[in-house]
Amino acid sequence: MNLPVFETAAAAPPAQRTTNDVIRQQNLGAVLSLLHLHGALSRAQLGATTRLNRSTVTGLVMELIELGLVREAPATGSNGRVGRPTLDIEPDDRVAALSVRAEPQAVTVALVGLGGVVHARLRHDTASPPSPRRFVQIVMSSVEAMRADIDRHYRVVGAGLAVPGLVNANGSVLIAPPLQWQRDPVAARLSDELGMPVVAGNDASIGALAEARFGVGRGVTNLLYIGGAMRSIGGGVIIDGTLLRGTSGYAGELGHTVVDPRGRRCVCGRTGCLEAEVSLALLEPLLGRRKLDEDELDVELGVVRDSVVMAEVARQVEVLSIALTNFVNAFSPETIVLSGYLGCLLSVSRERLAEAVRVQPLGAEGRAVRLERAHLRSRLMLIGPAELAFADLLANPAGVRP
Ligand SMILES: [Zn+2]
Repeated sequence: MNLPVFETAAAAPPAQRTTNDVIRQQNLGAVLSLLHLHGALSRAQLGATTRLNRSTVTGLVMELIELGLVREAPATGSNGRVGRPTLDIEPDDRVAALSVRAEPQAVTVALVGLGGVVHARLRHDTASPPSPRRFVQIVMSSVEAMRADIDRHYRVVGAGLAVPGLVNANGSVLIAPPLQWQRDPVAARLSDELGMPVVAGNDASIGALAEARFGVGRGVTNLLYIGGAMRSIGGGVIIDGTLLRGTSGYAGELGHTVVDPRGRRCVCGRTGCLEAEVSLALLEPLLGRRKLDEDELDVELGVVRDSVVMAEVARQVEVLSIALTNFVNAFSPETIVLSGYLGCLLSVSRERLAEAVRVQPLGAEGRAVRLERAHLRSRLMLIGPAELAFADLLANPAGVRP
């Protein structure tokens, strides 16, 4: 099994030569991560994948059961058999994280259990981008609405927050143009109010992480994720299983790759960025629609015959093609995942975009790059932020008390 490895949430190599406690912690984390990412497995499968012996696996599973993080469940396919039913081990999805997404037009709060199970979600539409203070108020009222359910059924380990902008390692937003936020310690604000740890990150990086773990990128070690939202273009670059962070964690801003030096003004202050040239905002007036979501736009583009609209779609697809060819040459991914608005463009222009990523690098034979639309769709940005919140638990299952 080929697991994407991300920082502390990684299924750590089980047998590093350090003290027994450290090895045990790593092994607990490896087993819990495996179950979190892949769902129910037998003890034998856990042993085969982690390369730990039977008695070690039995001990680790027992400890995880005592910690209330995993549970036994009837094995799939064991129904109807005579004798004692086989039991698999599955992550206990009552162990949960709050998943929060900040967008200019909405604040979404979800409760997501281990294994990527979305238990509940609440979307609060906003007339204009909320200030950081207002944003925290909206999150708190959403959590309050879920409070009775949470108290009765779940153990919450923390919260993860996705922001369309540059977020540093401390969870402070440097700049988030769609929200008009600048230099705000938003994770700390939210953590103070919620009384639990909050980890914040860039929405596209979070999308890349979620697709790599639970979606179309599962098992892919070199993945390029582009898109993320309907109104901005972010990127997430996974190289050799690790999310590329760059200086201060700001790598992957693929939306601000310049594709036309004489083009349109971008929110970042430069001219002709991919995000400015390939934009739903340029298409909506031609369609006579506003605030289209991904599903609605799929329907619109599926039936449109208007030549002006089709010409604008074709222009944007052409620009996107140029950017994709450049990205393939720069990063040499196995798979490119397009999400949000770019996923809609892929659905109507698969042939042209596939051609753009069919590269012939110098001296090498032609190599096909898989081009996929994000699979998780509306669940992507619910599962993704929760992954940030689960990271500490997966790294050290005995050290985190929900
Ligand atoms: Zn820009």
